[in-house]
Amino acid sequence: MIWMILFVLPILFVVLYCAIPYTVRLFSEMDLRRRCRKERVLVLTYDDGPGEETTPKLLDLLDQHQAKATFYLVGKNVQIKGSILPRMQRAGHDLASHSQNHLNGWKVTPWRSLKDVLQGFSTLKRTNIDFALFRPPYGKINLLTWLAAARQRIHLGWWTIVSGDTCANLPDVASIVAMAERDGGGVVLMHDFDRSEERFFYVLELTARLLDLAESRGWKVMTQRELLRIR
Ligand SMILES: [Zn+2]
Repeated sequence: MIWMILFVLPILFVVLYCAIPYTVRLFSEMDLRRRCRKERVLVLTYDDGPGEETTPKLLDLLDQHQAKATFYLVGKNVQIKGSILPRMQRAGHDLASHSQNHLNGWKVTPWRSLKDVLQGFSTLKRTNIDFALFRPPYGKINLLTWLAAARQRIHLGWWTIVSGDTCANLPDVASIVAMAERDGGGVVLMHDFDRSEERFFYVLELTARLLDLAESRGWKVMTQRELLRIR
């Protein structure tokens, strides 16, 4: 009995709490990749904002290309930097949740991660944002946060291409564009919170190059909500 408590229960917990939701994520990413290739779609997504410096300039660039993107908003940033939100809504961008305080669902206690996710949902609802997607911070979904999103009929918003804009050494923009080209489209993960100028310009340049690629290949540029056909 003691042997079972010491060895089997922790393994069971890890499988149920992390491994099952993570496996579902892998299948969802495969499905996203397949959809993008088949439907020739590029989805631009920006996490952790809104930013006071970065987001307006990004919106200008998207406007120039008449492109719509998906923004995964952090609740605490919405509360202090939310004045840009009406502009984003007017432009038809897809606003979605990225939790309240950006806690890693595998590194904090289950109840803290659950509270963080639910608070993030509440902040967007109080701000009258019609959202249908949630992207777990660091991509770390657990059983509780997975079920909490499902209970509110909020879909999970994964990605297929990592821009590398948070890596210590920024990758070459051309290498990320080449990935999108190889995949025949995709859902690209970038960030629009305020950071160094170098990273800000990297995101702008990558966005512009991806939009050029989509235009030259005749791909559709749409929001993640549109891709997943969520009303
Ligand atoms: Zn994030």
